[in-house]
Amino acid sequence: MVRRIVTVVGARPQFIKAAAVSRVLKRSGSLEETLVHTGQHFDENMSDVFFSELGIGSPAYNLEISGGTHGAMTGRMLERLEAILLAQKPDAVLVYGDTNSTLAGALAAVKLHIPAVHVEAGLRSFNRAMPEEINRVVVDHVSSLLLCPTEVSVANLKRENIESGVSWVGDVMYDSTLYISQAATRTSTIVERLGLTDKQFGLCTLHRAENTNDATRFARILDYVAEHSRSLPLVFPVHPRVGERVTAWARNLPQVKVIDPVGYIDIHRLLAGASTVLTDSGGLQKEAYFHRVPCVTIRDETEWVETVAAGWNRLWTVSDFRPRHEISEYGDGHAAEKIVDRIESYLGSGR
Ligand code: UDP
Repeated sequence: MVRRIVTVVGARPQFIKAAAVSRVLKRSGSLEETLVHTGQHFDENMSDVFFSELGIGSPAYNLEISGGTHGAMTGRMLERLEAILLAQKPDAVLVYGDTNSTLAGALAAVKLHIPAVHVEAGLRSFNRAMPEEINRVVVDHVSSLLLCPTEVSVANLKRENIESGVSWVGDVMYDSTLYISQAATRTSTIVERLGLTDKQFGLCTLHRAENTNDATRFARILDYVAEHSRSLPLVFPVHPRVGERVTAWARNLPQVKVIDPVGYIDIHRLLAGASTVLTDSGGLQKEAYFHRVPCVTIRDETEWVETVAAGWNRLWTVSDFRPRHEISEYGDGHAAEKIVDRIESYLGSGR
């Protein structure tokens, strides 16, 4: 019997994670996926390029909902998603990560008594000022199946008394990194185009609200990045949220190359060529490790604590890396298979 799943995505990191799982779902034979794009990220650089480079089919629905306050955006998504779920009557709803699209997808599902499946469950920064942290906590508490990337994320859920439906599957972003890395080495010309030399530049990205919404903090962060650029040229693909401010700031910094956001192939070529990564992105902290590039996380805490413990990542508030070792818990590049396997067992179990 074929079971039906609705997957809700909306933001850049979700396209990357969903792509890996969708590839396995297509092969599964027992699960049929309908993709819904909320529209939270919508343009060529932040959305379309990932669909084409990662071979994701066109979404069955594009809600074109972006911008506005968190409440307004989530509310509009919730209303539209509910109508889709009522029409589609799926057996489960699959959501990824920690954005408003994740929250709306999970809530729309559980209010209709449809089980929500959360990929990247259990991550915590323990900073409730972050909108992402609120989304994670709520989504984890309403989900039926919680698929965790790390051992710490399993333990975080246990501390919140969530044990049923929880399993470790590894990090699906590692699957995506393995999928794209060869294409990045073979086809991307971005390093040459930017006039950079491998291992003689750093890669910088910034987009988190907790950094960018507070003008004083953001200025302090940009000073910190400028200081780094004095000894190492930096390439800085700018998120739309900070584009104009970063472009204006970099005018007097000859060693900082500000560029538009790049696609998944080019970002992996930049990661492979970089000698260091400066970022507040969740995904890039791990991708830096996947490429064995040291990372400085420009935040006061991180959810990906194993990268810090393993000496490949440090917070900007700390001056030294810890002694280095390898990280095994992100898995072997087959997290997506484990995810599909868990969904099949869950839906096949009669619950
Ligand atoms: N990324 C990209 N192009 C860019 C910057 C980032 O493809 O110009 C990718 C990056 O490699 C990672 C993902 O986008 O896989 C991370 O997204 P983001 O930093 O927006 O979100 P977060 O991971 O913090 O949730």
